[in-house]
Amino acid sequence: MTNKHLLEVSEKFGTPTYVYDANKIRLQYKRLENAFDKLPVKLHYAMKALSNINILRLLKKEGAGLDAVSIEEVYLGLRAGFEPSAIMYTPNCVDFSEIQEAVEIGVHINIDNLTILEEFGHVYGNSVPCCVRINPHIMAGGNSNISVGHIDSKFGISIHQVRHIKRITENYGIRVNGLHMHTGSDIVDAEVFLRGADLLYEAANSFPDLEFLDFGSGFKVAYKEGDYVAEIEKIGFDIAQSFRKFCSEYGRELELWFEPGKYIVSESGQFLVKSNVIKQTTSTVFVGVNSGQNHLIRPMFYNAYHYIENISNPDGTPRLYSVVGYICESDTLGYDRILSEVNVGDILAIKNAGAYGFSMANNYNSRLRPAEVLVDGESIQLIRKRETLEDLIANEVEIESLILAD
Ligand SMILES: *Cc1c(COP(=O)(O)O)cnc(C)c1O
Repeated sequence: MTNKHLLEVSEKFGTPTYVYDANKIRLQYKRLENAFDKLPVKLHYAMKALSNINILRLLKKEGAGLDAVSIEEVYLGLRAGFEPSAIMYTPNCVDFSEIQEAVEIGVHINIDNLTILEEFGHVYGNSVPCCVRINPHIMAGGNSNISVGHIDSKFGISIHQVRHIKRITENYGIRVNGLHMHTGSDIVDAEVFLRGADLLYEAANSFPDLEFLDFGSGFKVAYKEGDYVAEIEKIGFDIAQSFRKFCSEYGRELELWFEPGKYIVSESGQFLVKSNVIKQTTSTVFVGVNSGQNHLIRPMFYNAYHYIENISNPDGTPRLYSVVGYICESDTLGYDRILSEVNVGDILAIKNAGAYGFSMANNYNSRLRPAEVLVDGESIQLIRKRETLEDLIANEVEIESLILAD
């Protein structure tokens, strides 16, 4: 996907618009799939990163399954054509009735607390298997908001509670068919990942009916030049060796599962916005764009860095700017960035916007959510219409007594 495609998108569909490169998604999927030294792995795409039905179908064609964190995501997966058996349901703090709904659909169930595990055993006994989410208490990931495996995290059942898990599963006859861990996003080094894996292997020896181990995800991509990125081939090779060794000790070949989100779709996406205002103040020059934290919240929420390029004026004189949104908040998309000179009306491309971009977008300030476009080679297709004012008010209910007579 080139800047020519992006400019074409902005002319045809307007801005703000999320644009995804289908080939980049395929490339990342294959790269991950092939990283494990010829060991077959099952990749369940973490659809919360980007859940447009076309993206799900594209990944299904590549052979992916899905990781769903809500029952709504499960339904979206089914709608995209996935078999229930290709979907892993990994909820957190949901009502037990939602888990029952998922059991009835027939997806894989991943349980992340002891109370629910006990209830599961009480209701299903040995009739439905489940996977157990273990919290290995390792600090992984670049930001405390996205590091979910540490001691204070709400996710998973502590690795120190394996004895209690065993008690529950033995007494209710629960068949534990998998163990899972997901330590957080933005993991860069193989060592942390392997440390988590070792803990999971150790726990796995307590469960005789396992069919798979699921190592979650968190593989990082480069957000800016010189960024550390997940050494995916190294992580893959090392995990493959340790997994083979574990399987021979365990006495059976298990399946190796992962749930990548960001790694698969982040770099495929660019978010196109238009410069509305160039504002010189006493300390900086602001570029005010026709979007903000309502459409891309990662810079504010995670202090994330997203590279920004002025694609309308690539040869302009480099100048220093702060790129800000139009929301009544301090929504800085990029602070102190050198861009080629920005004029009113120029299109800026915000990079690495495929993951947790559109999927975290909202309607704050009563703004409409952006359109989404898929570029596949030379084909450019709209995959989500821009919202309208009607969409915004569709569920609002007007109370008769408050309607003012005129
Ligand atoms: C969010 C999430 C993932 C994906 O994480 P990425 O950093 O996007 O790869 C995987 N598994 C679970 C359970 C998740 O909640």
